[in-house]
Amino acid sequence: MKSIKKRMLLLFSLVMVLACSFSESAYATPGAADTTGIVVVVIDPGHGGSDTGNKNGSLYEKNMALVTAQAMYEELLNYGGVLPYLTRTDDTELSVEQRVELAGYLHADLLVSIHYSASAEHQLHGVEAWIPSEAPCHAFGYQFGSLWNLHMGNYGFHMRGIKTRAFPDGGHQDIVPQAMAQGLVAVALEHGFLDAAADLALEDTEEKMRALGRLDALAVAQYFGLKRNTGEDYRNMSLTEIPGWQVWKHPVEVSDAPEICTLTEIGRNAATGEVTFQLDATDSNEALQYFDYSIDGGKTFRNLSVWPGYAWEKAQNEPRVVFTVVLPRRRTAKVVARVYNGYDVTTRSNEISIRIR
Ligand SMILES: [Zn+2]
Repeated sequence: MKSIKKRMLLLFSLVMVLACSFSESAYATPGAADTTGIVVVVIDPGHGGSDTGNKNGSLYEKNMALVTAQAMYEELLNYGGVLPYLTRTDDTELSVEQRVELAGYLHADLLVSIHYSASAEHQLHGVEAWIPSEAPCHAFGYQFGSLWNLHMGNYGFHMRGIKTRAFPDGGHQDIVPQAMAQGLVAVALEHGFLDAAADLALEDTEEKMRALGRLDALAVAQYFGLKRNTGEDYRNMSLTEIPGWQVWKHPVEVSDAPEICTLTEIGRNAATGEVTFQLDATDSNEALQYFDYSIDGGKTFRNLSVWPGYAWEKAQNEPRVVFTVVLPRRRTAKVVARVYNGYDVTTRSNEISIRIR
């Protein structure tokens, strides 16, 4: 019985290797790369040592990532059929190469690098998964990243979706292309922005950081079809079928900004100072993600909002948003709006000068 099962697994593994390499009709299906049927998941708390990662007051990304990664590790110990590892368990400094080398040595089926974001203007919020840019690793990363985004979205985060980076650029997600070069599937999970109030509410205590780690583990359990020692059984859970050769056009990095961003005043209430604007924008490559505005000619922007109808997996959304601003009296406001695409590349609108008497 045991040998038949083992032979079937071996056959399955061979089919998988052939499917990923040659067949265009094959679908990406997660599974153990070796013949033991045990899934190896290497969990990598980003940064460490003098590499603190992002910071906000007493919150350091390296520490937050470690708390989340350890909770993910502990949660996975509750499942059968999986061997989790951690690349670091203390404040050790590791190079990206050392992390990838360890994952390769352990024959990782999945390398999960844990991070928390921050933005230069401290206005962005949400979560995103960075996945391999090339087939067949891309399809595995896409499936896992989709599942993980969904859990984070249900938890309350804005889903920024899935992104790819073909080559290392010195950033937090370098582990993904470096692992891909070794034939390993790595994902870098950017949990919320530690400098954004909306995200901080979901991650500013160790218990909240641990809760995120347990959700990361849940995504792994569902992705690999694991069974919890007491309870949940994801062995028959079906994932969205994705052709192994497929590389999605939309999540691949594009550097160009939205082409059009036009601001028009459409209403004014002189009694209250409320002015209503219409913002028309277009990005032919991808959906529009956020918008914000300035009343000082673009020196400072405020009230970042998610663009209506934004969904990371959709390539396009509504080209128009209407918003109302209360402007100060007896002072000339110079109103400028800004639209962001999925990669946070922005385009500024025309400026409208308004003086409320
Ligand atoms: Zn990071």
